[in-house]
Parts: sequence; structure tokens; C-alpha cells
Amino acid sequence: MAKDINLNPGRTFSEFSLLPSLTPKDCTVQNVDLETNLSTLSLRIPFLSAAMTSVTGYDMALALGKEGGIGVLPTRIPTKEQAEIVNRIKSYEMGFVEEPITANDADSIEAVLRLVESHGHSKVPVVDRNNVFQGLFTQQHYGSSSANSQDPVTSAMISLEDITVHNNPKITVTEAKKIISSNGQNHLVVLDDQNRLVKLAFQKDVEKIKVASAISTYPGWKRRVDANIEAGVDLIVIDTSDAYNEFTQKVLQDYRKMETGTPICAGNVVTYDGALFLMEHGADIVKVGMSSGSICTTHREKAVGRAPMTALIEASRAQETFIDRHVPLIMDGGISTAADMIIALSLADAVMMGHYFNRFHEAEGEKYDEAGKETRVESEMRTVATWGEGSAKAQNLERYGHSNRKTFFEEGVEGTAPYEGRLKPYVKKDLSKVRAALSNAGCFDLESFRREASLELISPHSSYIITHPRDIKEKV
Ligand code: IMP
Repeated sequence: MAKDINLNPGRTFSEFSLLPSLTPKDCTVQNVDLETNLSTLSLRIPFLSAAMTSVTGYDMALALGKEGGIGVLPTRIPTKEQAEIVNRIKSYEMGFVEEPITANDADSIEAVLRLVESHGHSKVPVVDRNNVFQGLFTQQHYGSSSANSQDPVTSAMISLEDITVHNNPKITVTEAKKIISSNGQNHLVVLDDQNRLVKLAFQKDVEKIKVASAISTYPGWKRRVDANIEAGVDLIVIDTSDAYNEFTQKVLQDYRKMETGTPICAGNVVTYDGALFLMEHGADIVKVGMSSGSICTTHREKAVGRAPMTALIEASRAQETFIDRHVPLIMDGGISTAADMIIALSLADAVMMGHYFNRFHEAEGEKYDEAGKETRVESEMRTVATWGEGSAKAQNLERYGHSNRKTFFEEGVEGTAPYEGRLKPYVKKDLSKVRAALSNAGCFDLESFRREASLELISPHSSYIITHPRDIKEKV
């Protein structure tokens, strides 16, 4: 007889509903804060992009970092290259937006709002047909105006007189920063001597962007840590498919002795015992999930793993055994919609996603057109290449504990994901869904959400009823 046979079925995120609680009147979507603290690392949004070679490289880490999340650079990138990317991200400073997306002064507000939605920039300069700057459309200004969406954009823009402009296109970054910090507007519009728009600069870009690097538990990891720490990495992530082992324990112990001052996340685990083990051996953060990744065949190949929500519930039980220390949890694998994120964030401090980010322009995977031909033309992109770290293409033997190429078997597949455009607008929309759910739950922030959220299991019968529109032909 096996030691333990659990007859309760494992659960996933979509099997749960979040129950509304009393919403205080100032707990509006705008007032919900999604900041999260992963040990000493603070993120403006609780998103990490997976340490997968099809997902995270410089472009992804930069784009997600700009939004306030963090990209995890895969351990399969050679050490020197990984540290170089970290270095580039950490030295990224406010640059100018050299070719800003503009609206024409004859456009309707509705047309500009569509532009805002597809590009994700909430500030759009308005120019006339000769590119002469007329004013700045911002969603915030429009919201406080009495204009309606059919009106011309000029009726809802901040006019020229109220904007700091600079008429020398040769302005340096240092000069721009100085002007921005004194004008209280957090942006600067740069024009030529005939008031034609040249470029924009934004305050937000002055913030240092956060970036993480994955390491394995195999020899060489210390060198990788050293190179990354020197480059200024914000988080080290031990990336192994099963971290409940003595190799990970040893890495954690040795890492503590290195006294880098940078937090370390260890994973993945899916059981109470596994999570407790990592917490007790010095992990600052624990990552949860096995067999639930979109490209994962681990369970199919060797029957190991656990349904993701159950894994998370068990890891949070382990978390609760510490009274004086909060060890944050990152849920990794199986999250691809805002609804999944919301349920996961009722227990996890942050979510890591592969498939979700793989579909964006900034992902590392090659982009293909309608005919399946590789393309670099954005308007032709329809699908993006994706592959698991355990696939035949990646063969990340260290992540899966394979010691030998001869006996290697795949734990992941290779394929394509539908292309979804740029990261920023998509992520913004999903973040607003997460904020809206927290508002329904009467929570101003993620910490109170984890404390206060009430979930209910949905029966398979009611699942169809509450997740599908019924008895109508939906307009598409
Ligand atoms: P997703 O968000 O559902 O796509 O899951 C992403 C996660 O799947 C990653 O962060 C890894 O933990 C895991 N993963 C990546 N590659 C593989 C693989 O080849 N097999 C199994 N799991 C993988």
C-alpha cells in the first residue's frame, strides 16, 4: 500500500469563484494598488515573465520592467550574455520617444481612444497635417472634460499654453530630466524651431527597471550569481522543475553565505512538505507549480505533478507555519487569463507566466505570418514560436535533472501561440480586470486581498452556467 493516497481531486484556478464583499465607496478601480513585495524586492505589478528561452530576453524584460513587473532571464542563456542583458536593463535610463504615435487634429476622440488602446500609451500628441504640435491628449484630461467621444480630439486635449515644450531638438537626456523634475508635468514635448513635433520624454522612464536571472543547481551556478550580482540583478531565481531535493538545499545554504544582499527565489514545489523545506532552508521566496505549464508534458511522460490551485493551497499552508516571517509565494504555470490571475493572487504574492507573455511582440520566439513564414513586419505577424525548457529544442537538462543526453526524454513541447501584439496595452487591460476584482472584494491592495478574499468551488454543472453566455447567438 502506498504511503498516502489522496482521494480529493486536485483543483485549478477556473474551478473557483471569488465572492464579492462590502466595497467601501473609495475602493474604486483607480484606488486599487497592485504593488507587491517579494522579500526586499518591491514590484509595481505582481507579474513575472517565465525563465523560458521562447519568452524572456532583453525586449521582454525591458517591456515588462517598464510596466512595473519583472522578467526572469533563463539560465540557458550563457552567463556572460545573461549578465550583459542585466547590465543593459539596469543602465536603461530615460530615453526619448523618438517617433511618438500621434493623432491628427481632425481625428475624433473615439479614433484617438482606439489608438490609445492598441498602443497602450495614455498620452498622445496631437499634430496638424504639417506635424505642427497642437496639444496633448491624455485619458485623464479627457475623463475630466465634458467632451464626448464623437467630438474632435482638439476639444479634449491639453492645449499648447499649458504644456512645457522645448524648442531645441538637440536637448540632452540630462537637460530633459532637469526640466521634467522642475515642471511638475512628468513629460516634456520637444519641438523644432517651427513647432513641429520631434520627440517626447517621460518622467516614468527615469525609474530603474527591475530584472531577475535564473540559475540552476549545477556546478557553475556561483559564477553565474557573481556575474549577475555585479551587473546589478534584482532577484536570483533557482530554476528547477522539482526543487524538493538536497541540491537545492545546498545552493540555498551556499547562497546565504555569499551575502549578496539580493533576494533568492527557489522552486518549483507543489507540496506542503516541499514548500516548507525551501522556506526552512533559507529561500526568501518560494515558487510553486509542476505539470501545469502550457507547454508541459511532465505529467503525461512520468505522472508527476499537481493541479496548480491545490499546489498553491498546500504551499500557503506551509507559509502559515511561520508567524514571524512572510515567505512570499510565486504561482508558476497554468495562468493565462485575468480570471486565473485573480484566483491565484488570493494566495500568491505574484504570478509567473510563460504562455501569456509568449504571445507578445516582445517575446523571444520568432514571429510568423498567415502562411507560417517567419516575418519581422509587425502588421503581418499572426503566430509566435513557443517551446518548453524541457522540449527537444531547448533540452534544458539541468532544469529537469537529466544527467545524460542519451536518456533524455521530452517534458515539454514546441509549437506556436497566437500573436497578440504589444505587451503594454494587453497587460494594462488585464491589470484593470484584476483591480476591478479586488474592488469587488473590497480590497485596496494585494496584501488585504490575500487576507480577505473568499473563494468558492464551482461544481462542474454550474461551471458551464457561470462561465458561458447561453441561449443566444453571440455577436462577434
Ligand atoms: P505557462 O505560464 O502555463 O506557460 O507556464 C510557464 C511555466 O512552465 C514556466 O515558468 C516553467 O515553470 C514551466 N515550464 C517551462 N518549460 C517547460 C517544459 O518544457 N516542461 C514543463 N514545464 C515547463
